[in-house]
Amino acid sequence: MSPWYMLDSAEVLQQLDTNIPDGLKQSEVTRRLKKYGSNQLTEQPGESLWQILWKQLTATMVVVLIVAALISIALRDYTNAVAILAIVAFNAILGVRQENQARVAIAALKKLAVSTVKVRRDRRVQEISARQLVPGDIVLLETGNLVAADYRLLESSNLRIQESSLTGESEPTDKNTNKLEQENPPLADRHNMAYMGTAIAYGRGLAVVTETGNETELGHIATAIQTVKPKPTPLQQRLDQLGVKLAIITLFLVVAIFGLGLLRGEELSLMFITAVSLAVAAVPEGLPAVVTIALALGAQRMLKKHALIRKLPAVETLGSVTVICSDKTGTLTENRMTATFLAVEGHQVDLTTPLAELNTDEDLSSMLEEQPVLAWLLTGAALCNDALLEPHPDIPHQFQTVGDPTEGALVMTADHLGLSKAKLEESLPRVGEKPFDAERKRMTTLHKLPLVTNTIPEGLKLIVSGLLELGEASYIAFTKGGVGSLLEVTDRVLVNGRAEKLDRQWHKKIIENNDQLARNGMRVLGVAFRPFTSETIDLDRKALDEDALEQNLIFMGMIGIIDPIRPEVKDSVLMCQEAGIRPVMITGDHPLTAQSIARELGIVPNDRILTGQELSQLSSEDLKHQVENISVYARVSPQNKLDIVKALQTRGHIVAMTGDGVNDAPALKQADIGIAMGITGTDVAKEAADMVLLDDNFATIIAAIKEGRVIYDNIRKFIKYTLTGNAGELWAIILAPFLGMPLPLIPLQILWVNLLADGLLALALSVEPSERKIMRRPPRRPNESIFSRGVGSEIIWVGLLLGLVLLAIAYHYWSRGDANWQTMVFTTLTLSRVGLAETMRSERESVFRLGLFSNKPLLGAVILTIGLQMAVVYIPILQTIFHTTSLSARDLLISFGLSTIVLWAIELEKCFTRRK
Ligand code: ADP
Ligand code: MG
Repeated sequence: MSPWYMLDSAEVLQQLDTNIPDGLKQSEVTRRLKKYGSNQLTEQPGESLWQILWKQLTATMVVVLIVAALISIALRDYTNAVAILAIVAFNAILGVRQENQARVAIAALKKLAVSTVKVRRDRRVQEISARQLVPGDIVLLETGNLVAADYRLLESSNLRIQESSLTGESEPTDKNTNKLEQENPPLADRHNMAYMGTAIAYGRGLAVVTETGNETELGHIATAIQTVKPKPTPLQQRLDQLGVKLAIITLFLVVAIFGLGLLRGEELSLMFITAVSLAVAAVPEGLPAVVTIALALGAQRMLKKHALIRKLPAVETLGSVTVICSDKTGTLTENRMTATFLAVEGHQVDLTTPLAELNTDEDLSSMLEEQPVLAWLLTGAALCNDALLEPHPDIPHQFQTVGDPTEGALVMTADHLGLSKAKLEESLPRVGEKPFDAERKRMTTLHKLPLVTNTIPEGLKLIVSGLLELGEASYIAFTKGGVGSLLEVTDRVLVNGRAEKLDRQWHKKIIENNDQLARNGMRVLGVAFRPFTSETIDLDRKALDEDALEQNLIFMGMIGIIDPIRPEVKDSVLMCQEAGIRPVMITGDHPLTAQSIARELGIVPNDRILTGQELSQLSSEDLKHQVENISVYARVSPQNKLDIVKALQTRGHIVAMTGDGVNDAPALKQADIGIAMGITGTDVAKEAADMVLLDDNFATIIAAIKEGRVIYDNIRKFIKYTLTGNAGELWAIILAPFLGMPLPLIPLQILWVNLLADGLLALALSVEPSERKIMRRPPRRPNESIFSRGVGSEIIWVGLLLGLVLLAIAYHYWSRGDANWQTMVFTTLTLSRVGLAETMRSERESVFRLGLFSNKPLLGAVILTIGLQMAVVYIPILQTIFHTTSLSARDLLISFGLSTIVLWAIELEKCFTRRK
């Protein structure tokens, strides 16, 4: 069989047993899915539960513990050995559970990130997950789509595909549907194919799926890609380094304790196991795992708020964002466009009021008769347009628009006035186009004019006959776009049905009109046209010269479109400003439109607006100075966006940037947090982004930032909590010999406290809800040390205080010869750690204000910890294992009381800082 690219379209379709109008039948799809499998590359299977367990069991500390247990066995101290092993097992179970939770969360996120594809099946266009594609599927291609399998192209309208991921060629390649004659050309030369992993940079088209999953070209080379391991996030890296440092310090201390003990004549085996237990207790071995878990679960919570995290490190970066550069349309506004104003020379219609009245045919035809130019304007706007009017799926006799909302508004308005886009297209079929792009800010379509006016529906006759009077034209091109952008290619203006030269006077008048509408926050689109004779344009030439379409146009008029602001955004902007984050609006719209919306939202600190054109003229040095003061950028191109991000970053900002188009990808990649629109965004933008806004809403960014801050806070709290407790234990054990005492805690007790405190209590801290004023403080510096802002100092002074409390108890009871002395120390330590967990829930707020019951998981952990501790102290069989003795009610009360000392100390400190 010849390769697909050497067959013509008909042969390809025949071989794949499919056809363009019908697509595959659902039953056939099911059959093929079974036969070919789902369309995905086999991934390195994730870690299995057993692998996670094995990893837990082989962690260094655990290995050390197991060795300790073996030594205990050798010493015939079986209970000790069993107890150590039990604790090892418990630790492993807790660890596996957490890692598994994180794994499930991450897998769920990955699944959501799969892109969708528009296919024709059962004669209907449907949107399906890319995984569901099978060979023979008919796929609709649009600018910005990712190519989700290998395709043979069937129709191409200016299709250009970015294939750098496969061929290394950075410029997009032009595609067509002609069959190739050459056998085995390089991938880059197969002009009628599109390959998985590439992206449609421009144009539209139709294709049939030839290969899916591992059978694709990408599948053949993918093994190399799969082996890349996820990189640890910056915070994980820093914590890894911290872990190493702590391990070294601990090792040093442990060796010292071991040596001192031996010098004092303690038993070798006891000292060895004590040293091991201490090492286990002091090294926060769970740290990196906790970060993963906190980030993964945080990402899950963000998802509930409509922010889909695509790259895990984004969760932690979100907490330090200082500037949010946001699109206007759809993010700050609703993207519910309504055309409200029509203006042609000499006549203006405000559509907001008379629209309902205009609905009768008589009014309509009279309006069109009176003002045929108005009807032309709408005809142009509806024809130079990719949106469709389709029956509403739920409400009968209602219609809804499909496609770009701006264009939808135009189609809808034209339809209301009796100019149905579908009918217009029948009479004036589209034969060529130059698609919209954010750089030019305009688009053009070319239509064939009917030869005889008789075939034209009644209502249109007037218009078309009017057009035909324009000369010997056989084609007409309509261009719509930003008024400024249209004027660049316009040299005439339509006045009373005739084209006049567009002189300075006209130019000024049009601009004034435009500005007036823009000042009211409207998005203004101008419409122009140009007739062509068969001589002036040659459709048969292989590629229609698109540039020729946008020259010497005749300006017709403009349409003002209202897009209301999202009501919730106003609050979000305020919140953002209070949180020390600057919101910046970046839009392709007119500066006055931008300014009006920015004022309404409260974004504008001053009235300075920079346009893309002005920006392009600035040197990067100048731009660097300007970016601090400018909050609104208008008429911006994607390249400008990239420049803005870079300039902000050189000023030390952490920049979040939104984007939706293909050309936004570089800016999204450059930004610290690239944010793609979930609804209006292209696959390419989503692929480049760290986060996807499922509802396109600015408020969602703020919610995600808040969540990011909470997560970072909680990781800090976790670290502070574990290290403070460990420090307390170490102090007590190191200093005790200097007071002449034996070891105040036996190894098993140390391990026990470690299990309860780090395993149960600390984890519950990581789900602590947000601090009350979390969005009233400035963003954290991204390179800030984990020990800054009080964490380090608290570990030192509270740790020391805890150590002293324990020593005091130990000394008091020990010197009286009380057999309970170790149990007192043990119990007080456990209870102190309960108190620490509660008070460390907030860095500023008193825990009594938060309410002891407001963190339910922690409350559960507290109750469990106290219960288990009582069991260990009072149940006889556990007493023999843990070397504990029953405490009298009085001693127990004393222990409870003294254990709260650290809690009060921290509460007092918080009280002082609140005063300040
Ligand atoms: P935004 O940054 O607000 O999303 P866009 O890049 O979508 O802005 O649009 C920028 C400008 O391009 C608009 O102000 C309008 O003048 C023009 N424009 C937008 N959409 C279209 C379209 N579908 N056809 C023609 N012109 C358009
Ligand atoms: Mg846009």
